[in-house]
Amino acid sequence: MSSAPVIIIGAGLTGLTCARHLADRGVDSILLDKGRGIGGRLSTRRGDGVQFDHGAQYITPDSSAFRALLEQAEREGAAARLADKPESFVGLPGMTGLAKFIGRGLDIRQNIRVQTLRRSNTGWGLSWDGGGLAANRVVMTVPVPQAIDLLVETSLSRALDQVRMDPCLTLMVAAEAEATFNMFRDPDADIAWIARDSSKPGRPGTPCWVAQASADFSRRHLESSQEEIAEIMLQRVAAKLGLTSQPTYLSAHRWRYALTAHPLGQSHLQDDTGTLFVGGDWCLGASAEDAWQSGCALADAVLAG
Ligand SMILES: Cc1cc2nc3c(=O)[nH]c(=O)nc-3n(C[C@H](O)[C@H](O)[C@H](O)COP(=O)(O)OP(=O)(O)OC[C@H]3O[C@@H](n4cnc5c(N)ncnc54)[C@H](O)[C@@H]3O)c2cc1C
Repeated sequence: MSSAPVIIIGAGLTGLTCARHLADRGVDSILLDKGRGIGGRLSTRRGDGVQFDHGAQYITPDSSAFRALLEQAEREGAAARLADKPESFVGLPGMTGLAKFIGRGLDIRQNIRVQTLRRSNTGWGLSWDGGGLAANRVVMTVPVPQAIDLLVETSLSRALDQVRMDPCLTLMVAAEAEATFNMFRDPDADIAWIARDSSKPGRPGTPCWVAQASADFSRRHLESSQEEIAEIMLQRVAAKLGLTSQPTYLSAHRWRYALTAHPLGQSHLQDDTGTLFVGGDWCLGASAEDAWQSGCALADAVLAG
């Protein structure tokens, strides 16, 4: 089997950023992702006339380089600023729009859940149900608990022990409501965040709300069924919103690894062979910019190798 020069596991913001930077410097890569779509936690759910960003809500850039990327996406119609928070950006038509913008023209293969990663005489062997690939260099950008599972046979797994990620249960509901706010935050409440998703630019007109539970509440109810999660979250959200109609859409999403509680403290890791690279938002923090920074650092490390 011939070897791909670089395989990137995960087509979230970290993996896409790494692949984009490599492509811009003339290095091809293949991205593998278990999802049906790309973007990972930059995600958008669509239904009949409704739409919800059920992962990242919006992005507020800190560095000028990241802001420049978002401004470029804005100019090219893939992002827009929030009307009441113009320093923050959302993807168009949903948050996944940003992922698609960064991923344009890249070789992205979906519905592939990599199950094993093994060192061979010539490089790395990756395998999954019904397939496999060999690679000279591998970049892994999946949430840390999933990375540990894949790294058991490498020198890196121990280094990740200290990283912690919190879960987040998310409710998506379409309904008329008396609430006048677009965003509500209360980190001490069971429901820590509610957003009128339909108030973002370029969204369908139907009132759509996204609510996120606190880490404690999410941990307590993590193993409940999605129907149970939707019900217990709706009970709490309905009162806060003052719902005036029956929901026309109701669904819950369980993010098992949502937000970094304790980061690694460095932008990425590289194994002792210099051919395996590991990164993700969890290296530096809990935001999309942390993912982007890690992706840039991974590309630099691959190019330096
Ligand atoms: C509920 C929620 C709200 C958030 N709100 C904000 C916000 O408002 N602002 C902000 O800046 N950030 C926010 N974030 C954080 C932001 O979404 C993340 O920091 C960023 O998207 C992480 O990107 P990533 O590429 O590192 O990881 P991910 O997006 O998780 O990408 C990893 C990818 O790896 C794939 N994968 C995993 N295992 C395998 C495997 N074995 N084989 C193949 N593929 C695999 C997954 O399918 C996924 O696509 C939020 C996150 C959540 C969950």
